[in-house]
Amino acid sequence: MKAKAVIIVVILVIFLAASLISCNGNTNQPNEEKAPQSSEAIDAPQKEAEAEAEKKDEEAKEQEAAIDLQKIKPNENGRIMLLMYHGISDKESEWVRTPENFRRDLQTLYEKGYRIISLKDYIDNDIKVEAGFTPVVLTFDDGLLNQFNYIEVNGERRLDPDCAVGILEEYFKKYPDFGRGGSFYVFYPLPFRQKELIKEKYEFLIQNGYEVGNHAYTHENLGKISANEVQKALALNVVNTRKYIENFEVFSLALPYGASPKGEDYKYVVSGEYEGTQYNHKAVLLVGSNPAPSPNSIKFDASKLPRIRASEMNTAGTGIYDWLTHFEKNPHERYISDGNPDTITIPEEETEKVNLEAIKDKKLVKYLRQ
Ligand SMILES: [Zn+2]
Repeated sequence: MKAKAVIIVVILVIFLAASLISCNGNTNQPNEEKAPQSSEAIDAPQKEAEAEAEKKDEEAKEQEAAIDLQKIKPNENGRIMLLMYHGISDKESEWVRTPENFRRDLQTLYEKGYRIISLKDYIDNDIKVEAGFTPVVLTFDDGLLNQFNYIEVNGERRLDPDCAVGILEEYFKKYPDFGRGGSFYVFYPLPFRQKELIKEKYEFLIQNGYEVGNHAYTHENLGKISANEVQKALALNVVNTRKYIENFEVFSLALPYGASPKGEDYKYVVSGEYEGTQYNHKAVLLVGSNPAPSPNSIKFDASKLPRIRASEMNTAGTGIYDWLTHFEKNPHERYISDGNPDTITIPEEETEKVNLEAIKDKKLVKYLRQ
């Protein structure tokens, strides 16, 4: 008992001493504590005023947006054209566009409020287009020389101004607000037909916002071969592209002839494996004849994306100009951006057609379209 009492007294003495030291060592503490309180008291009305101003600001912004909604009429559940090109050459035909006509297509798209996005941004639902404009995706099949051609001028290598890439570059420079992009679907052994320049061309495309995609190893008809051969054809395309660009991710496929294996075997156009090389296409492009659904739509299926033929011959009413006219007559069907990549804005009547999973963490905004 005695010992315990002594211990308690010792502890008390130490405690007292410690608290005295601490008081002495921090003589300013009470003042410091008071200081923030008093300054808070002084700041309070100012902060309240600030909060009020902020609230008014937000209200004003919302009001502004509300006015814009009726003017711009965004519909981010509307349809998007994925345009399909083949050759760009002097003589127009079903599968060839002249440089003049290709330029006219671009000019028309630009003037009618279309803006170019990459296929990747489309399937990733990462569409960044100014408010009131409509995204459009450009695709080019077969890796032809007239899509990407280098020529010699006075001993210097130049991009052919009349090949697809030459024309696109000229346009993107002239109209920086047009956006940028284009997917090139190549096969082997000679994509773009200039053997010594394949690597350089791939690097140019990738560095300048274009994409290089799968068009099977030697343009096989995937509807007429076995499941094993389908996987071989698609994996060998990837193997060969990676000979030029190490570890390159070939993320999309354009079906040669628009043909695919039937039934269950369709899955092999999406993913598969051959001799240790795996492929996994996040997008598979059909030949098709319709605009594709918005990535927000319940109808969106990245494994079956329809494309529109960007030509005017034998299009049976489903070519680029047929659809441009259609969207002019039916503007409510067209994807129209709200200009904010973090929100998905739709007219009320589209509500049931939106896939809430697809919009992920974006905010869904609805309005009454008048
Ligand atoms: Zn082809």
